[in-house]
Amino acid sequence: MAFEGHEQILAVQDAPSGLRAWIAIHALDPQPAFGGIRILDYRSERDALFDALRLSRIMTYKCALAGVQGSGAKTVVIANSINDRAAAIRVLGRHIEGLGGIYRAGPDAGFTSEDQQVLMEETQYIAHFGVDGRMQSAGDATAEGAMHGILRALELRSELPVEETTVAIQGLGAVGVSLAKRFIELGARVIGADADSSKIALAQNLGVTIVPPSKILSTSCDVLVPCAMGGTIHDVSIPRIQASIVAGVANNTLGHDSQAALLKENNITFLPDFALNAGALIEGSHNLQTNENSCPQKLAAIGETIANILQRSDDDKLSTIEAAFVLASEKVIATKSH
Ligand code: NAD
Repeated sequence: MAFEGHEQILAVQDAPSGLRAWIAIHALDPQPAFGGIRILDYRSERDALFDALRLSRIMTYKCALAGVQGSGAKTVVIANSINDRAAAIRVLGRHIEGLGGIYRAGPDAGFTSEDQQVLMEETQYIAHFGVDGRMQSAGDATAEGAMHGILRALELRSELPVEETTVAIQGLGAVGVSLAKRFIELGARVIGADADSSKIALAQNLGVTIVPPSKILSTSCDVLVPCAMGGTIHDVSIPRIQASIVAGVANNTLGHDSQAALLKENNITFLPDFALNAGALIEGSHNLQTNENSCPQKLAAIGETIANILQRSDDDKLSTIEAAFVLASEKVIATKSH
C-alpha cells in the first residue's frame, strides 16, 4: 500500500457548470478507496489539490485503524468556481460512475443533502448517505463512534464520571449537534459555539449552553471537541485550552501533526481525528459488505482503538498522533502478511 504516494489524481473540469475538482485516490489496495466529497471555497487549484492529497492520505490510515477493508480517497470541489451547482454535481457524479466502483464517495464539509440527491441520480458508487432513512445519517454515525472514543478516554484519563464532565463543542453542524445530544443524554454539561447563527436554536433546545465562536477553544471544560473545520488547534490556540482532553472530530484537527507533542507538553490528551471520527466510514463500509444498516458494536470498538493509542503513546513515549500512525502501519503490514 502506498502510504506516502498517491495511486491516482484526477482533475475534473466542466466549463459550462464551472466545475473544478480534484479526485485524489491515495491507495487502491485494498479496494475500494473511500472518501467524502468536500465542497468549499479555495484561493487556488493548488490549495484545493493540497487539501485533497492530505485528506485522502489520512483516509488510508483511518481505514487501517478502523479495520475497514478499503483505502483512502477524497474529492475536493472548488465551490467559488461553480456557476450551476446541480449541473456541476451531475458531471462529478458521472466521473465517479466512470471510475467503475474503485472509489466510493460520501459526504464531507460543504456537501448538502440537495447535492446528495443529484449525485445519486448519476452514480451508484456511494458509501454512506443514510439512504432512504434506513441508515442513520453519516453525521450521526460519526458522532456515535466519537462518543465511544471520548467515553473510553474519560475512563482512562479523567477521574470524573461523565455526569460531572463538561464537554465543549466547536461547530454544531451534522456531527457536532448529534454529539451534543448524546452527551446531554449521558448527563454531561455541554457548551457549544457555531459561526452560523441558524445552528444555534436547535442546540439550545437540546440544552447546549452557547458561547461566541471566539470563546469556545478557551472555555472552561474537561473535553474540547473541534467539530468545525480542521486546523483550529495550533501553536496560538493550544496555550489557551483549559480542557484536559482534546477530541479530534474535524478532519485534520491539528494545524500540523507536531502540535500533538505540544498538547502533550501541556498535559492535554489528544484523541487523533482519523481514529475518532471513523464512524461513518465504518458503518458505510459495513453496509457495503453486508447490506446491514447498522453495526453498533463496530462503532463502539472505536473506544478500544482509542485505548490502544493511549497505551502505545505511554509505552513508547510517543505523541498520540505518532502512536496512531504506528498502529495503523502495523495493521497494514499484518494484513499484507496474511
Ligand atoms: P457541517 O458543515 O455540518 O458542520 C460544521 C459546522 O461548523 C457548521 O455549522 C459551521 O457553521 C461551523 N463552523 C465553521 N467554522 C466555525 C468556527 N470557527 N467556529 C464555530 N463553528 C464553526 O460539518 P459536519 O459534517 O458536522 O463535519 C464537521 C467536521 O467533522 C468536519 O471537519 C468534517 O470534515 C469532519 N467529519 C465529518 C464526518 C461526517 O460524517 N459528517 C465524518 C468525519 C469527519
